[in-house]
Amino acid sequence: MPRSATPRDPWGTPPWPIDFQPPKQPLPPSVDFAIIGGGFTGLAAAAWLRSLAPEKSVAVLEATRIGAGASGRTGGMVLAESAAGDLPGLGDVLHSFAEILKQLGVNCDLTLSGAWEIGRRDKVENSPIEWKDSGTLRVVNEVPGGTLDPGRLVAGLARAAHQRGAVVIENAPVERVEWSRGAELHVPNGFLRAEKVLFATNGLSLGLSGLEGRAEPRLTLAAATEPLREDQLQAIGLSHGKPFYTVDFPYLWGRTRSDNSIVWGAGLVAAPDSQHVEQIDISSNEPARMFASLEQRVRNLHPALADVHFTHRWGGPILFRENWKPVFSQHPASANSIVLGAYAGHGVALSAHLGVWAAEALLGRRELPDWGHIEPS
Ligand SMILES: Cc1cc2nc3c(=O)[nH]c(=O)nc-3n(C[C@H](O)[C@H](O)[C@H](O)COP(=O)(O)OP(=O)(O)OC[C@H]3O[C@@H](n4cnc5c(N)ncnc54)[C@H](O)[C@@H]3O)c2cc1C
Repeated sequence: MPRSATPRDPWGTPPWPIDFQPPKQPLPPSVDFAIIGGGFTGLAAAAWLRSLAPEKSVAVLEATRIGAGASGRTGGMVLAESAAGDLPGLGDVLHSFAEILKQLGVNCDLTLSGAWEIGRRDKVENSPIEWKDSGTLRVVNEVPGGTLDPGRLVAGLARAAHQRGAVVIENAPVERVEWSRGAELHVPNGFLRAEKVLFATNGLSLGLSGLEGRAEPRLTLAAATEPLREDQLQAIGLSHGKPFYTVDFPYLWGRTRSDNSIVWGAGLVAAPDSQHVEQIDISSNEPARMFASLEQRVRNLHPALADVHFTHRWGGPILFRENWKPVFSQHPASANSIVLGAYAGHGVALSAHLGVWAAEALLGRRELPDWGHIEPS
């Protein structure tokens, strides 16, 4: 049955459904590989582990529902490289992402027709975009990239993991991990032993993943409009379907969906204690003010948007490292575990690309990159 990523959620609900629910299964007593977190990273790693090593057992433990973190709420812009640009040994992220989806049989409406960088600095001739926003925003560059349907990507990866024999268990928040002869993962109603563990919890459970104080979580806000008419899309320069993001400030990003609605984003909210973004309710003062300001900004961009109606508002967690490089490291407490995440707002293609790399590293077939390293505490 189709379902929303997170119904009645303090972070709001995005417009796309996630039309796969893993069948309920008991917690296995032990597995070869346990993955904590059912977002793009964890689900891609699980599917890949079972593809490469069908004789090994794999369990994904997801605190609430698959896609409940950033993955079910993402903007859906598919971007090349990482937030820190290209990195040694990273490879061609977009090519790899498309190949992974092909091999796992995931159809998520991926189109790679390019992405626009927009800015206010240069007077560019023949820009399809001319928007008023602290100056005039125009297309200043086109880079490799594209769009996809995030709900279909979450569902597709979860289905691929399930079909290959990984156990995906929802409503299984890992509360603590004890390290002795492998790992013991404790959830509210029991525990599971694992030889090796992948922490794919991104901007949540930072104490568990060893990232507290090493990376900064934020709630990122996004809002979707009603479907626009073709003449409106043409007037604002978005009939090509290319996503866009600003290269100067104030920041703005967005993309059209297949029904001609537009997802827009701008704005990061910090948690009251700076660590636990699950404390934030998007209807509270600061996020509510930021949504009102984003929507007004969009209506002022162009006369064709003056009366546009917003149908969905939501937020999701992202995690930043000071140097903008992803974390891809041994867990500070154990050599038998990997922590992977902190892609900033640049994790749609990268999460699956690195999730697959993590699977290969867990199987001892690949080394971790130096740039993802975190120091033991
Ligand atoms: C609003 C928004 C817009 C974005 N737009 C873009 C974009 O357009 N392009 C782009 O490239 N990137 C974008 N990003 C970033 C991208 O979505 C993320 O980098 C990516 O989804 C991260 O995937 P993940 O699997 O690593 O993390 P997540 O999807 O956050 O998954 C982590 C999972 O771990 C689970 N979890 C946490 N703690 C526990 C625990 N203790 N036990 C069990 N499970 C736990 C959570 O419930 C969650 O499901 C955006 C992010 C947001 C929030």
